[in-house]
Amino acid sequence: MRIPRVAGLIVAAILLCAPGAVAEDQGPLALLWLQKSAEARALCKLVYNTATRAVAERVRLSNYGRNEKGQLVSRVFTRIGTKYREDLRPVAVVMDLDETVLDNSPFEAYLVKAGKGFDDSIWRAFVRFQGSEPRAHRAIPGAVDFIRTAEALGVTVIYISNRDTQEGQFDAVLRILKGIGVGEADLANRVLLHLGKEEEKAAALKLLGELGLAQDGPVGRALLANQSKKERRRLITQLQYHVIGWFGDDLNDFPIFIPKDTAKGPPMLEARSEAVSAYSGHWGTDFFVLPNPIYGSWRSSLPDKDSEALLEDAGFGEFMRGK
Ligand SMILES: [Mg+2]
Repeated sequence: MRIPRVAGLIVAAILLCAPGAVAEDQGPLALLWLQKSAEARALCKLVYNTATRAVAERVRLSNYGRNEKGQLVSRVFTRIGTKYREDLRPVAVVMDLDETVLDNSPFEAYLVKAGKGFDDSIWRAFVRFQGSEPRAHRAIPGAVDFIRTAEALGVTVIYISNRDTQEGQFDAVLRILKGIGVGEADLANRVLLHLGKEEEKAAALKLLGELGLAQDGPVGRALLANQSKKERRRLITQLQYHVIGWFGDDLNDFPIFIPKDTAKGPPMLEARSEAVSAYSGHWGTDFFVLPNPIYGSWRSSLPDKDSEALLEDAGFGEFMRGK
């Protein structure tokens, strides 16, 4: 079934980096792979098994203490501008929610079956449905076991998502997380959703003021450009916690900064690819990426048209023409 092209809404969905449009030109194949293939399931397990070993080893080899709540804590020295700070911070991992911890493929399945493109009102209806319907409380394979193991070790799990706080979404997210069976202690303080564009900007300016940092300095620029929309929440998490792991299905879920003005198409694709190489030692050590062939910044990095022209045949077409 071909999904009607609703280009503007699709772009909006991709920019939101929340579950968005199924690729209308690839039909449901990518979704079938994600939802039904044993290989996708195995890949998720692989990522979370690797993460479990990496976090357990980090805890074993580090000289962490414990605070009165039983959380692992690390002594951290930070320099912010010209000031130094020393404190004991809880050891934490930071996890994206959609397609990292929560499986929203039923939303995508609905779009395919109904022959619809992404529509924000349908997404919001799905969030309401998901919040109240236990059948829709689905986790990415391996995620819950990983979270439980990390929490049993004393590691604090922080969730940073670009779901926003409108229309009761915060409470819905808490219900869904409880529904999949992850730790509930202090959960409301560990879920950081997007406040809204203007509110995020105001909060970023306030944070820079509190830290005494210039708006045009490296932190200020990254914070105000807010490319992934998560910079501010990442920074306040890093100021409060000692983060030993980042989890996401999108490059923007990781503390990797790619200038926002990088052009779509080859420049952006190359910058993203180079960033992955530059952080080579992190993948599987403290960066853990889950598969998502459906939506995300990888799609919005493609040129608006003729993206097939980027496919590389390594000269095989030429070889065939010469035969
Ligand atoms: Mg995600």
